[in-house]
Amino acid sequence: MEADESKKSERRFTGIPVAQGIAHCPAFIQYTQDEEIVARQLREEDLPEEVARFEAALIATRIELLEIQSQIASAIGSQDASIFDAHLLVVEDRTLIDEVLRRLERDRNNVEFVFQEVSRKYCETLEAIDDPYLRERVVDIEDVARRVIRNLLGKAPQNPAAHDQPHIIVAHNLTPSDTAQLNRKLVMGFVTEVGSKTSHTAIMARSLEIPAIVGMQGICQEIQLGDDILIDGYNGLLILNPMPETLAECGRIEQAKEAVSERLQLIRETASTTGDGRHIILSANIDLPDELDDIAENGAEGIGLFRTEFLYLNRVQPPSEEEQYGHYRMAAERSLPHSVIIRTLDIGGDKTNLSLESTEEDNPFLGCRAIRFCLEHIDIFKTQLRAILRAAVVGNVRIMYPMISGIEELRQANAILEECKAELSAEGVPFSPDVEVGIMIETPSAVLVADHLAREVKFFSIGTNDLIQYTVAVDRLNDRIAHLYNPTHPAILRMIKLTVDAGKSQGVWTGVCGEMASDIVLTPLLIGLGVEELSATSTLVPRVKKAVQSLDATGCEALVAKVLEMDDASQILAASMSMARERYAELID
Ligand code: PEP
Ligand code: MG
Repeated sequence: MEADESKKSERRFTGIPVAQGIAHCPAFIQYTQDEEIVARQLREEDLPEEVARFEAALIATRIELLEIQSQIASAIGSQDASIFDAHLLVVEDRTLIDEVLRRLERDRNNVEFVFQEVSRKYCETLEAIDDPYLRERVVDIEDVARRVIRNLLGKAPQNPAAHDQPHIIVAHNLTPSDTAQLNRKLVMGFVTEVGSKTSHTAIMARSLEIPAIVGMQGICQEIQLGDDILIDGYNGLLILNPMPETLAECGRIEQAKEAVSERLQLIRETASTTGDGRHIILSANIDLPDELDDIAENGAEGIGLFRTEFLYLNRVQPPSEEEQYGHYRMAAERSLPHSVIIRTLDIGGDKTNLSLESTEEDNPFLGCRAIRFCLEHIDIFKTQLRAILRAAVVGNVRIMYPMISGIEELRQANAILEECKAELSAEGVPFSPDVEVGIMIETPSAVLVADHLAREVKFFSIGTNDLIQYTVAVDRLNDRIAHLYNPTHPAILRMIKLTVDAGKSQGVWTGVCGEMASDIVLTPLLIGLGVEELSATSTLVPRVKKAVQSLDATGCEALVAKVLEMDDASQILAASMSMARERYAELID
C-alpha cells in the first residue's frame, strides 16, 4: 500500500525548453535510438515463446506499415503510399524469417539479438553489390528491422500512428524525419534525452506548436508507458504524477499565456513597422507544406524560408518535378500578394535521407550538405529548379541557395539554373525567366566575401542557426556544449553587421531566417544592425510583430552602437533584454 502511494508521488525532471505550451497526458515511450541489443542465452524450453514473440512483432510491424500506408494514401495519394509496398515485402520475406528461426534454434539467443544480426548481415551483403535497386532495398530492410526490434523491445505497438489516444512522446531522440511523421492530432508534446534548441526537430515542434523539451538525460529510464505526465514547455519541466495543486498552477500559466496570444491576434492585419516608421518585412518559415495555412493566420508577409528538404525525407525516391511543382505552386499562390523564398534542397547535417546519401560521413554538418550535395547530384538539383521556375509563373517566387561558402558555388548553381531555363524554353514549358536569386549567409567564408557575393545576388538571408555553429565551432545539436551556442557572441553581431553592410553597399537587402529572427529578446539587435526582413517560425510571427511595433529603429541603432563595443556575450544579451523588457515585458515574462 505504502509502496503504491510512493510510486504515485509527484516527481520533477528538467531539460531544455524548446517549444512553449503545456500538455498533460499519458506517456508514450518511443524507441528511436538504434538500440545496441545485448545477447541473452535462452533455455531450450524458452524457444517457443521466443518464436511467438517474433511472430507477434512481425504482425505488429505489418499493421503499423499498413496504417502508415493508408494515412499517407489519404493525405497525399496512393502513389506516394506505394513506397511502403517494399517495406511490407520485407516483413513477409521468407528467407529472412527462416534464417532468424534457424539461428534462434541453433544459438538460443534472444530473438531481438538474432534478428538484428541477421538483418545486418542481409544489409551488408546487399550493400556490397553495386546496384541502385538493391541499395534502396537496404534502406527498406533497415527501417523495417528497426520497427520490428522496437516492437520486440516495447512489447507494445511503438509507432505513435498506431496509438490512438492523445499522448506525450518520451524518447531518446527524435529525428527530423520522425517529427515530420508525428500524428499531430494525438501527439500533445514530446521530451527527448538529447537535442538542442536549433535542431530541426526543435524548430518543427515550434512551428507545429507542440510543447517540447530536449536534453532531459536519462528520462527514458524514469518513465513507463502510460505514466501520468505533464510537460511545461515554458520552463523545460516534466512532472510525473502531477498533484492537483500543480495542475491548477499550470492551468493558470496557460490561461495567462492564452490571454496574451488572443491580444496578439488583434494585430494580425497590421504592418510590422517600428514606432518611428521603419518597415521590417516579417515573413514566415515553413517546413511542411501543410503549414501554409499558418501564414495568413499569423499575419505574415509571405514565406521567407521554405525548407524544401522535408519533401525528400521519409521516402526512397526523391519527389518528381510534377510533385514539387504542385507544392511550390501552392506556396506561391498562398503567399500572394507577398513572395515565397524557396530554398533549394538542404539535405545533410541532421536532415538525412539514407537512400539519397549513399555514404555516411564523420562530420555531416561539414560534409556534403545543401548546395554541395546539389552540385554533386545535378539531376536532383535540376528537377527542383525546373519545378521552382515553373511555379514562379503563378506568383512571386524567389530562389535561395543554402550554405554557399564562396562565389564558385553560386556561379555553378546559377549556371545550372540557366541550363534549366534553356531546357524549359526549348520544350515550350511555361516558366518565369526573371526569378530573383539570393543566398543564405551561414558560413563565415560567405560573410567575409559578402561584398563579392552581393554583386551576383538580389538578397541575402542570414541563417543564424548555422552561422553560429560554424563561427563559434559549436555543433548545433550537441547539448554538452549548448552554453557556447550563443547568438549574442560579439563575433556573431560582427558577422551580421558585415553582411548587412556589404549588401547595402550593392543595393542588396539582408534578412534573417535563422531562429534569432523568432527570438523577441534579440529583435532590438537585429533591427539596430540594419536587417530588413525577419523570417520567423510562423506561430511566433505575432510576437515578433508586436516587438517590432513596440521598438524604435533609432533606439535600436543606438543600442547596437553601444553593444558593438562590448566584449561579453551575456552583457550584450542583458542590454538587448533590457530594451525588450522596457518595450514589451508582457511578451517576455
Ligand atoms: C539556419 O541555418 O539558420 C537556417 C535557417 O537553416 P537551417 O536551420 O534549415 O539549417
Ligand atoms: Mg542552415
